[in-house]
Amino acid sequence: MSETRAQVPQEPGGDPAGPIESTGEHIRLAETHSAHNYAPLPVVIAEGDGAWVTDVEGRRYLDCLAGYSAVNFGHRNPDLVAAARRQLDRVTLTSRAFYHDGFAPFVTALADLAGKGQVLPMNSGAEAVETAIKVARRWAYDVKGVPRDEASIVVAGGNFHGRTTTIVSFSDDPDAYGGYGPYTPGFRTVPYGDAEAVAAAVDSTTAAVLVEPVQGEAGVIVPPPDYLPRLRELCDRRQVLLIADEVQSGLGRTGTVRACEHTGVVPDAYLFGKALGGGIMPVSAMVADEDVLGVIKPGQHGSTFGGNPMACAIGATVVRMLREGPYLGDARRLGELLRTRLKEFEGRGVVAARCIGLWAGIDVAPELATGRRMCELLAERGVLVKDTHGSTIRLSPPLVVSDDDLDWALDQIAAVLTDLGAGRA
Ligand code: PLP
Repeated sequence: MSETRAQVPQEPGGDPAGPIESTGEHIRLAETHSAHNYAPLPVVIAEGDGAWVTDVEGRRYLDCLAGYSAVNFGHRNPDLVAAARRQLDRVTLTSRAFYHDGFAPFVTALADLAGKGQVLPMNSGAEAVETAIKVARRWAYDVKGVPRDEASIVVAGGNFHGRTTTIVSFSDDPDAYGGYGPYTPGFRTVPYGDAEAVAAAVDSTTAAVLVEPVQGEAGVIVPPPDYLPRLRELCDRRQVLLIADEVQSGLGRTGTVRACEHTGVVPDAYLFGKALGGGIMPVSAMVADEDVLGVIKPGQHGSTFGGNPMACAIGATVVRMLREGPYLGDARRLGELLRTRLKEFEGRGVVAARCIGLWAGIDVAPELATGRRMCELLAERGVLVKDTHGSTIRLSPPLVVSDDDLDWALDQIAAVLTDLGAGRA
């Protein structure tokens, strides 16, 4: 509409947000001119620094979502910004038609970090998952000898692996899959955490078991400790690939590089995303050994942007930071603080709190508030979190949050619960 066009600055390099002055006007224009595929909280962020963001009216918020873990290292982490700036002055995109001098360092470092031999870089998390589905199917036909077009993949109920048509085909969330059929066949869904159900679903056509080591979107659901080990044993016995979707759980969130480490399980493939892009751009990857990734030959899979110089510069820096920086230890230490304080809330407005590393799912008593309402009240107090199903909220602050700031955020949760009447007879 002409109304919007008139507000876009004419001068190249002008601040595109400049002419829009208030939070309300930003939201009005956004809601008018963007699809309503999200229902954001009424906060318009203008700047980020570490664990904090500032809105267009100068209000500060502690970002306890961190881009669903994409901002694990904090907003504008200086090491990551420096790496991106250096790369901006050299070359940003080549396509994989050629090699570039950041590619080998990145794939070598990431493979090594994951303890695997090879990397197939993509962009979004969903693309890494799609890559894994394709690799698993090819592997089933070429290596396992499954009859053509009969390969099956076992997945878990409550999963969230992304938004493509194939991925939503095996979602059991009606919001995610409803209205998008016809659906891609070849998936069997069994309850999360139930190794026996997986065993019952596996047959001679099974290419892979695809699982989140901790289910993020489902509300930070940590499976029983013997779940992944039993899946590992089953997959070995039945010649099935075990694929761990670590897009949200990996790269520091749980205090380890891979959430799988908590149970000592080594899957056949890891999927990384989110934090691999340093909060700067989408970078994802499937990481496995040559006997798995080797089934893909030139021309059989790829992406124009996958493994681009900018992505590799940032991704290699993320790997170095995880190896050399304080992030994993900090996530563990802060996670203990989070766990201890959240336990105090149980029975006082919180039905259950699940914690692993610096990551928590908090089930608020449904009679007190919906998750959405909690998020709105917390935003008013300067804490940004995101609800998930029903009355559950998730906490995943940047790993650079200070102890005091985390403590303060937990004080705000306590205050909101009290305001809502928690603990009153
Ligand atoms: N896998 C998991 C476990 C996720 O949590 C997500 C996103 O939340 C994805 C895959 C999809 O990632 P993206 O949104 O980058 O496509």
